[in-house]
Amino acid sequence: MASLSKGHSIDIKFTKLFINGQFVDSVSGKTFETIDPRSGDVIASVAEATKEDVDAAVQAARHAFDSGPWPRMSGSERGRILMKWADLIDQHTEEIATLDTMDAGKLFQFCKMEVPSVANMLRYYAGAADKIHGEVLKTAGKFHAYTLLEPIGVVGHIIPWNFPSSLFFTKVSPSLAAGCTMVVKPAEQTPLSALFYAHLAKLAGIPDGVLNVVPGFGKIAGSAVSSHMDIDKVSFTGSTQTGREVMQAAAKSNLKQVSLELGGKSPLIVFDDADVDTAAQLALIGILFNKGEVCVAGSRVFVQEGIYDEFEKKLVEKAKAWVVGDPFEPNVQQGPQVDKRQFEKILSYIEHGKREGATLLTGGKAIGNKGYYIEPTIFANVKEDMLIAKDEIFGPVMALSKFKTMEEAIERANNTTYGLAAGIVTKNIDIANTVSRSVRAGMIWVNCYFIFEHDIPFGGYKASGFGKDYGMEALHKYLQVKSVVTPIYNSPW
Ligand code: NAD
Repeated sequence: MASLSKGHSIDIKFTKLFINGQFVDSVSGKTFETIDPRSGDVIASVAEATKEDVDAAVQAARHAFDSGPWPRMSGSERGRILMKWADLIDQHTEEIATLDTMDAGKLFQFCKMEVPSVANMLRYYAGAADKIHGEVLKTAGKFHAYTLLEPIGVVGHIIPWNFPSSLFFTKVSPSLAAGCTMVVKPAEQTPLSALFYAHLAKLAGIPDGVLNVVPGFGKIAGSAVSSHMDIDKVSFTGSTQTGREVMQAAAKSNLKQVSLELGGKSPLIVFDDADVDTAAQLALIGILFNKGEVCVAGSRVFVQEGIYDEFEKKLVEKAKAWVVGDPFEPNVQQGPQVDKRQFEKILSYIEHGKREGATLLTGGKAIGNKGYYIEPTIFANVKEDMLIAKDEIFGPVMALSKFKTMEEAIERANNTTYGLAAGIVTKNIDIANTVSRSVRAGMIWVNCYFIFEHDIPFGGYKASGFGKDYGMEALHKYLQVKSVVTPIYNSPW
C-alpha cells in the first residue's frame, strides 16, 4: 500500500510485465523501483524488462499478428472491443488518475480529466476501425487496379513519462484500430497506469499477444525494441537525442519504419494589441502547466515593446501567486518535477541562466527539502545564444524577451532547431495569418495554447520529429498501402 495525502492509500495491483495476456515476472527476476516525486519514497517495485522479455513480448505480438484473430476480424468487431475497453477505463478513473499523480507528480484534478479523455480517444479510433479501405483506381491501361490498406504489423511503442495515460493511448488507439499488434515500453518513471490499462484491455476482450507492456529502462528495454528484427515499426515519443538513437537502431536492424515525436522550444509571440492580462495568464499557463514538463511548453515568450513593461509586471505578479505543492490538493497548481534527475537538470539550467547574465525576475530555486519542487521561474533579457534560450529545459522556466516588429518576432521564433508548436496572441487577423504561415512548427495556436483534440493532427517540424499523432493521420501511420493489379481481357473499356 502506498500512502497519499491526508492519510489515504492505494493498493498497487499490477507491477509485473504484461506479455501474451499474462502478468509475468521478468526472465532475469530483476525489478526496479518507481518513486513518488512528492517525497522521493518508493511507491512499488516493478518487474524490469530486459532483452529476453522484449523478445518474448515481440514473439507474442508476432504470433498474434501472423495467425491471431485481431488483424483478421472485422473492423466493427475490433471497434466494439475498443469501445468496451474505453468503458472499463471510465469505471476506473479515480484509481488510474491516482497512479499517474503518484508516479509523475501530476495534478490529480488534471489526471481525473485526462483519464476520461483517453477513453474518448479510444472511442474516436474505435469508430474509425470499420472505415479503413483502399481505392479502386482508374488506370490508363486495361487493368483493374485497387489498393488495400493493411496493418503494418508488429509495432513497438516507446513513450515518456510526462503524460503517461495520454501518450499510451496516443500510440495504442490508432495502431489497435488499424489491426496491428504491439509491444509498449512505458517510461521507467511511470509504468503503473500502463500496466493497469493492460489489465483492463484483457477484461475488454483484446486477444492475448495483441497488446504487450514491458516496463524497463531505455538503454536496455527501449533499445531492444528499436533494434528488434521482428518489429515492423517503432513509434517513439521522447527527447530528440533519444529519437536519433531510435532511428539509428531502426536503420541498423531491419530498417523498420520510424515515427518520432520529439522535443521542443516553442515560442509564444504576444503583439501590442493583445489584452495584456489575458496574454500574461496564457503565457504563464503555457510554461507552468504540468510543471513545464510538456513538449509544447511555451518556453520562449516574445512580447512586443509597446506592452512589454505592463506584461512583465502582470506576469511576475501571477507567477508569485502560483501555488506549488502536493498535487493531490485541489488548490495546488503545480506539483513536483518527475524525478531527482529532472529536478537537478532544471536547477542546473537555472544556474546557467543566472551565470549567462539573464535577469531573474522571479523564482530560481527549489522549494523545501523534501520532494522535487521548483519555483516558477522567469528570466528576462534573454539573448538568443544563451543556453536557456536554446535548450529544452522541460521545467517551469520561461525565457522572456522583447521585440519590435513582426518580422523580428518571426525570425527569432524560427531561430531554433525545434519546430513543435507556437502561440500567437493578437486581434489582428493579418498578423495572425502571416505569423501562422511563417513559423516553422507543426502546431500553431492563435489566441489559445495547449489545445489538443483527438481529430487535430499533432507533430513536429525540424528536429521535433515527423509522423503525426492524433486524427486520421495517426491511423494511416499504422497502415500500409498495397496495390493489386489484374488485366482486363476483351473489355472495350
Ligand atoms: P527520453 O528520450 O529520455 O525517454 C523517452 C522514452 O525513451 C522512455 O521510455 C525511455 O526509457 C526510452 N529510451 C531512452 N533511451 C532509449 C534508447 N537509447 N533507445 C530506446 N528507448 C530509449 O525522454 P524523456 O526525458 O522521458 O521525456 C522527455 C522528452 O520527451 C522531452 O524532450 C519532450 O519534449 C519529449 N516529448 C515529446 C512529445 C511529443 O509529442 N513531441 C510528447 C511528450 C514528450
